Amino acid sequence: MEKKDYYDILGLDHSATKDDIKKAYRKLALKYHPDKNKEKGAEEKFKEISEAYAVLYDDEKRKMYDQHGHAGIDQQYTKEDIFRTTDFGDIFRGTGFDFNDIFEQFFGRRGGFNERPRAQRGSDIRYDIEISLDDAYRGMNTELEVPRTELCETCQGTGSRPGTSPKQCPTCRGSGQMQVSRRTAFGMFTQITTCSKCRGQGMIIEDPCPTCRGRGTQQKTRKIEVQIPKGIDDGAHLRLAGQGEHPNGATQSGDLYVVVHMKQHPIFERRGVDLYRKLNISFPQAALGASLSVDTLRGKEKLKIPEGTENGTLVKLKGSGMPKIQGLGYGDLYVLIQVTTPKKLSKRAKLLLEEVERELEDSGETYK
Ligand SMILES: [Zn+2]
Ligand SMILES: [Zn+2]
Repeated sequence: MEKKDYYDILGLDHSATKDDIKKAYRKLALKYHPDKNKEKGAEEKFKEISEAYAVLYDDEKRKMYDQHGHAGIDQQYTKEDIFRTTDFGDIFRGTGFDFNDIFEQFFGRRGGFNERPRAQRGSDIRYDIEISLDDAYRGMNTELEVPRTELCETCQGTGSRPGTSPKQCPTCRGSGQMQVSRRTAFGMFTQITTCSKCRGQGMIIEDPCPTCRGRGTQQKTRKIEVQIPKGIDDGAHLRLAGQGEHPNGATQSGDLYVVVHMKQHPIFERRGVDLYRKLNISFPQAALGASLSVDTLRGKEKLKIPEGTENGTLVKLKGSGMPKIQGLGYGDLYVLIQVTTPKKLSKRAKLLLEEVERELEDSGETYK
């Protein structure tokens, strides 16, 4: 099913302010809140509007959505991430509804949107890497060494020595539970407790696997190749599905999130897809104009300084910025011109400058 546009869901257009978004969401949320609205589909509707709000109210996520649509959001964030970073508290303040309750309903015991019970899925792993601006410019493949819990390779997670298998627990006969009956003054009470022999597993391992000593899992440091797309920006999350933890009892591995940090560059400063740098030029170059060769991330480029350039002028080199993340063109490079005053002048240079100064006075050029 095609996912609906977040703006449409909230009945807003793309120019909506944060205040508009909040108001629209509040109105719809109170209407579709599952504690209040028992109509069929209300809960789905509530999830839908909450997701739209969580994305559009967050500047970074909204920008991502505006630029890349649902694909941009879905690649970077899990549903849980979208909600976890959003404060719903003040939306529902004073309404008698508690968003945390719903959040629990959505993600807690029932396993959330993706309908995966949480206990059966391993935890996600976060791995932070720092890359240079040049790496981000070109994109790269890199190998991470990720320590994680995996199913034991020897016993495939059973915990038993290969060729043997766990036996049914004789105490609870496989149920993992024990009934304890007690006679009290008020009558017979039957209490159900976890079997102490098998600790609720229902099975006992008589001959443990020599590799994992019966745990069924092992710690491994894996080399995992990750592709850093060109144009990636600071703080981006790359999700490697199924590369997270796989503890015992899990039916599915968690995910690996690679969080990208950018090293500071000695020359370039990045603002989104554009780059900024400073360039010192002499005042004759500023006055007469010049054609200079400057360093950009793709190599040396010619920069034309127009005649009569003022200190502080920004000169744009179109297309010499960062690649746009989806491979559609490049940002620009802005060069901030700094006209420098020479400190050590030769006698001849002084004479020449004095002559320039007289010439300027004669021609009526005045400075205030
Ligand atoms: Zn094992
Ligand atoms: Zn037992």
